Amino acid sequence: MEEMEGDYIPRYEYERLESDYRRLMRKYEETEAYKLDLEKLVSKSRSPPLDCGFVVEKTEEGAIVNLNGALKALPYGTLTEMEIKDLKSGKFVFVGRIPDRNNPSGFTIGITKVYDRMVDLEVGEIEELVQDDDGWVGEISTGKGRGRIYKRLRKDEPEMLKEGMKVGLLPGTYDIKKSYKAKAISRYEVTKNPEVSFNDIGGLKGIKQELIKSIILPMVNPDDYTKYGECSRRILMYGPPGCGKTMCAKALASALPNCEFVKIGAGELFSMWLGESEKNVRMVFEAANAKLEEGENDYGVIFFDEIDALAQERGMYSGSSGAPERVTGQLLDLLEGFHALHPHLTVIGATNRLYLIDSAFRARFDKIIEVPKPDKEAVYSIASLYAKKIPVDRYLIKEEGGEEEARLHLVKEIVSYMYSDKYVETEIGKIKRADTITGRFIAQIFNYARDKALEERTLLMLKKGVIGNEDMRRMWDKEGIAAILDAGSKTKDLQKRYKRIEEIGVNMGHLKEGFDKFVERRAEEILTSGFGAMPEEETGMHF
Ligand code: ADP
Repeated sequence: MEEMEGDYIPRYEYERLESDYRRLMRKYEETEAYKLDLEKLVSKSRSPPLDCGFVVEKTEEGAIVNLNGALKALPYGTLTEMEIKDLKSGKFVFVGRIPDRNNPSGFTIGITKVYDRMVDLEVGEIEELVQDDDGWVGEISTGKGRGRIYKRLRKDEPEMLKEGMKVGLLPGTYDIKKSYKAKAISRYEVTKNPEVSFNDIGGLKGIKQELIKSIILPMVNPDDYTKYGECSRRILMYGPPGCGKTMCAKALASALPNCEFVKIGAGELFSMWLGESEKNVRMVFEAANAKLEEGENDYGVIFFDEIDALAQERGMYSGSSGAPERVTGQLLDLLEGFHALHPHLTVIGATNRLYLIDSAFRARFDKIIEVPKPDKEAVYSIASLYAKKIPVDRYLIKEEGGEEEARLHLVKEIVSYMYSDKYVETEIGKIKRADTITGRFIAQIFNYARDKALEERTLLMLKKGVIGNEDMRRMWDKEGIAAILDAGSKTKDLQKRYKRIEEIGVNMGHLKEGFDKFVERRAEEILTSGFGAMPEEETGMHF
């Protein structure tokens, strides 16, 4: 056993090793092929090349060649017209002995052959473009811990280059040989109709109604609403994490036909384009708007998660680069001018900490909606939703006199279990048991129970040998998986209780185990983040 542990390589480690191995093999094969080519050429040529290097720059009669780091100006030597035309910086060339024009009986060194291969460019990123008296200098960061390099730019370069652009640099001289267009990299999530229905959300009836009334009704009946009504396309939702803010925004986007849902958090905004965060915010709005104008999408929902990170009181970031403040200003402007954008665009901000959002920001939203922690009734309806999606223990079904009844029983029992004790004790303090309950927690409990039941089903299948896939069964035996999973005692109990595999399903034991497993962690999370006792909020608006 000891030895086995020593040999055991975790999966991620294995994948890394394997990819390293494949990379090395590729390099090896490339080198081998290159070597063969070289050998062929060497054996063919009368005067074998002395060295090999790459062209840094073409000159009048030859080129400056980088030979193992040393730069040498060399004449064209034995190159043909074609080869001279073909010569570009970055190309590999052979250097050898050529007849000396000044000394008919002697030799000198020159380029003898252009090899059809380019040197690998080094990748850098333009951090800053700075103008001085002589023109422009690019401040370029390269990898390898070398820090930044400063490169004087050619006349035409400043026009083509942009801060944040990736460039390919010629090794040694760091001449910019290639630039990669700075694309608007969509590191944020963009989905079409994100498949969450209002019916997947338990409780929150008032919130669903509010969203439908504010957004969907005006879109259904635009004539009346633009004439007489008010347009509330800027919504701020607040409430503790894991209670359905994102779900509501997604459900809204799913309900609207051909709707794009854009989800973006502060982290993504600040990292998308270094130093251009405020442009990123604008770009998100512009991109979504353009797709509506061009008819690619019919509706659009932009969802800003954790908007508090972008909308905090100004002046809180003293000492920073000023980027957060510029983003905040930009977002304020965008929200202010939102009604100039396409009427089918909606923006929803979500925050766990409304008290961090300043009044200027709050005023930019048409509605501020609370998405609260579920009360007992909501917990009940959320649990009922998840209870529909699990296989149920056959014995429970028998006891309860039907499958529906059994699901109902599970819901009732787990809800009353959740509220059975007043407090959860943890090492760092205690908290009301009811305060730990959120939609996410309920989903977690049911998922845990479902996974348990499926695990039991599978163990029994393997124990009984009813696995259709031969290879799978062999693997099971060969790897000693039963021992790893302690399947022996578990399957014994299961076999006693269930005659047939399909009889296994979720029972109260599974659900309670799920609750017990996570409740302490939930309590600790709340104790450390303070979401249990949210300060009472005065939103300044009431709906
Ligand atoms: P928030 O945006 O408020 O932090 P989410 O909407 O992302 O929370 O919810 C997280 C997960 O918790 C959801 O994906 C869902 O599985 C579950 N969940 C939360 N609230 C509900 C609810 N009211 N009904 C059903 N599931 C919920």
